[in-house]
Amino acid sequence: MPSVFITGASRGIGRAAALLFGSKGYQVGINYLSNEAAARSLAGELKDLGANSLLLQGDVSDRAQVRRMFSLLEYRFGGLDVLVNNAGIAQQKVFSEITDEDWDRMFSVHVKGTFYCCQYAVPLMRNAGRGSIVNVSSMWGQTGGSCEVHYSAAKAAVIGMTRALAKELGLSHIRVNCVAPGVINTDMNAFLEEGALEEIRRSTPLGCVGTPEDAAAAICFLAGEESRFITGQVLSPNGGLVIG
Ligand code: NAP
Repeated sequence: MPSVFITGASRGIGRAAALLFGSKGYQVGINYLSNEAAARSLAGELKDLGANSLLLQGDVSDRAQVRRMFSLLEYRFGGLDVLVNNAGIAQQKVFSEITDEDWDRMFSVHVKGTFYCCQYAVPLMRNAGRGSIVNVSSMWGQTGGSCEVHYSAAKAAVIGMTRALAKELGLSHIRVNCVAPGVINTDMNAFLEEGALEEIRRSTPLGCVGTPEDAAAAICFLAGEESRFITGQVLSPNGGLVIG
């Protein structure tokens, strides 16, 4: 049975991805930071789908915690086919008010978190002679977002990491790709008021914001065999808000 480890799977995009992988016959490693109830409820839903899962609490920005999660994962699943680096945080602040702590936290979760998880996943994938990594960036990592300079910079770094690692791991038959969603209806965007959402819908060629399932579909496509000749690429489920 193939296995996937999804960081930040308790809510939003990660949760939708977990359910989609589960429905496709994967056993699912569910990482979460603090929302244990949501993670347990997801495990219950996966069980109803007939999918095996493993709850893995841990902060992806902490190397020791990531190492512990991968040890458990290897022990329970015996290897890893797919890694989805999805855990993330957001913060809206004007540039002059971003503190060192804000900057470091943003880079720790998105960039170090992806770095650590890849470092522990790659040996497992090399042992198996194959694997697929999907990193979750953002359209702001492609275009830059006002009042989200630290978020945009961290997400751009995730794209850079994706491209470089894809080149390094190609001969090991490990693919590395990136999903850069537009505005997706999750807790992360709960701060957006109806007026702002309406403005986003008006500026989006497809006339709506995305669902977690829209982003999950792109993640699952890049993870699976349908995309076997694709590596180092960025796929952007964004309704056409960013083109090119
Ligand atoms: P969300 O609903 O806020 O969920 C965030 C998830 O990340 C939760 O499962 C949370 O765990 C987990 N998490 C946060 N910090 C963590 C850490 N240090 N270690 C481990 N897990 C951590 O977010 P989302 O909207 O689904 O976003 C998922 C990814 O997509 C993020 O990388 C985000 O930047 C990216 N993205 C989102 C959008 C959007 O419009 N929503 C657009 C572009 C990109 P707990 O539940 O335990 O707190």
